[in-house]
Amino acid sequence: MEPEEIAANLEKVRTTVAEAEKKSGRTAGSVELVAVTKTHSAEVVQRAVDAGQLLFGENRVQEAKAKISELPSKLRWHLIGHLQSNKARLALTLFEMIHGVDSIDLLQHLNRVAQDLGVFPRVLLQVNVAGESSKFGFPPQKLWSEVESIVQIDRVQIEGLMTIPPLVASSEHSRKYFVQLRELRDRLEREFRFPLPHLSMGMTADYGVAIEEGATLVRVGTAIFGERH
Ligand SMILES: *Cc1c(COP(=O)(O)O)cnc(C)c1O
Repeated sequence: MEPEEIAANLEKVRTTVAEAEKKSGRTAGSVELVAVTKTHSAEVVQRAVDAGQLLFGENRVQEAKAKISELPSKLRWHLIGHLQSNKARLALTLFEMIHGVDSIDLLQHLNRVAQDLGVFPRVLLQVNVAGESSKFGFPPQKLWSEVESIVQIDRVQIEGLMTIPPLVASSEHSRKYFVQLRELRDRLEREFRFPLPHLSMGMTADYGVAIEEGATLVRVGTAIFGERH
């Protein structure tokens, strides 16, 4: 893709974000765009940087490590994919936020590593709202039953929830999953006084709808960088 195309795509996505914020009565600028760069080279990422984008998402730790080392240090990186515990240490040195924490074991492991490194990592808990067997994430019931242990975690800052809804035919079909994630968050906040300000939901196909339903972070790749190969 040509550099101008990436800049134009970013502009379009930013406009859609702004329109969705407005339509749903959200404050302008309350949603952050995570530009998803997996499979794309550092050179391609640099074109987005040149167009003013500073926040990026990667789903593999090793791939991100190589890319991050080739790019300006002012960039901010979020890990959006599944994290294996043997990559936790490296992940905590590369990413400002980890979206896909999906088990109490991983949380406890991250907590120990964070202690070791002297850091306070920011994470989101991934929820498998549709209960798909092929997807990572806490089933909502499980999150509910483990919340007493989750709130004991002292170093890892749990800032919200993340979900990847099933592949659907249209963005409207994703809406109910986004509503479920928001309602789950609201109930956790109410019943456990557990502040969860962030909702990471919405990808190329459905980020407008996700914003209408309360997303604070949208993860958009294809709409900016084109199809992945
Ligand atoms: C790849 C990926 C995205 C971006 O998907 P697009 O449809 O290209 O916008 C978002 N979230 C996660 C977890 C991903 O792995």
